[in-house]
Amino acid sequence: MRLSERPLIARAEIDECVRRLAREIAARYQDGGGLVLVVVLKGATIFAADLMRCLDVHPLRVEYIRAKSYDGTDSVGEVELIVLPDLSVAGQRVLVVEDILDTGRTTTAILSALEDAKPASLELCTLLDKVSRRVIPVNAKYVGFSIDDHFVVGYGLDYREEYRSLPEIYVLEPSSA
Ligand code: 5GP
Ligand code: MG
Repeated sequence: MRLSERPLIARAEIDECVRRLAREIAARYQDGGGLVLVVVLKGATIFAADLMRCLDVHPLRVEYIRAKSYDGTDSVGEVELIVLPDLSVAGQRVLVVEDILDTGRTTTAILSALEDAKPASLELCTLLDKVSRRVIPVNAKYVGFSIDDHFVVGYGLDYREEYRSLPEIYVLEPSSA
């Protein structure tokens, strides 16, 4: 596997997209009623760090949840969820922050676990959406970019824990391509 020569999504596009999403989210939550961002580890951390610094919503709380469903570039179909102990969202307005929506299995598992915790409201923000790959329908209120069916890395997204620190988003291609 090797990185595409040029980024699929460059720095300036990411920055502009993050600002747009922050405006959309603020328009919904700016009434002083507060918001809990539930950031999905590890892939969404860099996106969430940029997003929350643009987000004019108060009071803002940040929590984390860990989900794992991929081995290399293949979805294994089963989702392992690790809920951190201080994730209490009962009665709170919750926005899940995801890196990428693919089959929808991971996000569905996360949303249903959070729904069980009885939040006042529950919405989803994803940086990337691979619409054509969806197996389970998921309603993402805030979407950064819809992308074709590529395996992408960078800006938090990994391939076997590598490439997360790249500042832009690249396609990982088979070496023979
Ligand atoms: P789903 O459960 O929707 O199939 O998969 C969602 C998870 O799979 C994402 O949170 C992410 O961890 C991983 N994933 C799906 N597509 C990609 C991709 O193109 N690149 C990377 N790095 N991870 C992906
Ligand atoms: Mg992920």
